[in-house]
Amino acid sequence: MMRLTAVGTSGSFAGPASAASCYLVEWEEGERSRAVLLDLGSGALGPLQAHIDPDALDAVVLSHLHPDHCFDIAGLYVHRRYSPWALAAQEESGAVRPPLDVWAPEGAEARLTAAYHTDPGRSPRAAEAHPTDLTGAFAFHEMREGQGFSVGGVRFEPFLVEHPVECYALRLTGAEGEVLAYSGDSDACPGLVEAARGADLFLCEAAYQEGRDTVRGVHLTGLRAGETAAEAGAGTLVLTHIPPWTGEETVAAEARGVFPGPVEIARPGRSWTVNAHGAEATTAVPVEAPGQADRQPGRAGLTDEPAPQHHRQMQHHRQRGPR
Ligand SMILES: [Zn+2]
Ligand SMILES: [Zn+2]
Repeated sequence: MMRLTAVGTSGSFAGPASAASCYLVEWEEGERSRAVLLDLGSGALGPLQAHIDPDALDAVVLSHLHPDHCFDIAGLYVHRRYSPWALAAQEESGAVRPPLDVWAPEGAEARLTAAYHTDPGRSPRAAEAHPTDLTGAFAFHEMREGQGFSVGGVRFEPFLVEHPVECYALRLTGAEGEVLAYSGDSDACPGLVEAARGADLFLCEAAYQEGRDTVRGVHLTGLRAGETAAEAGAGTLVLTHIPPWTGEETVAAEARGVFPGPVEIARPGRSWTVNAHGAEATTAVPVEAPGQADRQPGRAGLTDEPAPQHHRQMQHHRQRGPR
């Protein structure tokens, strides 16, 4: 059984009621819990902290490198490298957290490093500047169609979909055969149907409205999302990536006209359990937000392996403080 929680559901940019794309997938493996993010778009690191301690993540999978799907990696980098507990642990014992696995299309590391921005320009501290190295916090893995990967007992399969930049739909198969599919950003295409084939829950974008958005090759309308779900034989269709200028009831009605199964709308905080016999909406229970001033310095995810290469950088950063 996997649990899906919508963290950010606004399409293309953050909206007044939601951050941009981010979905938390969790499951149990014996005594331990696993947690993987599908995308971490603009603004999503904020509400994410109401659902999980970012230190508890096992991996992040980025469908593509548009800002509404990946830009809060910059904030997660600060969280992993400069939290008071991470710095204290490193100072005391040299303990360093292992890098977090990030699966993304080609070029992610260079692009996200550039997004973080480290050129000191005319800063009075320019002489102390050094290139930011995201690999201290993240281990980047290049996604390719046909090359699946696993996080614990869940299998991830990327399918190249139709979007102006390299973008993957993701098919997640759990230990009991349950399938959760996520469209990423895509217009209708064969890869998207394959990703969603027989999925118990299909989380699918519907950024466009019929009769208004005529451009092709970028996004789905509610109608095309419904047609894709029907062709794939998906169980429950959950529409998401709906920008502030698109009506969620409009795209849901379009989808319901062509898809015989349940059509639901993702909103921040909504969650679903995904079982081999189908998907079921549940109520998300936000955790008390960690990372506030009253948090006890912890050692979540830290190991005692020294990291001599990063140690000097860390000291150096600490004088300057996080950005
Ligand atoms: Zn998008
Ligand atoms: Zn996009």
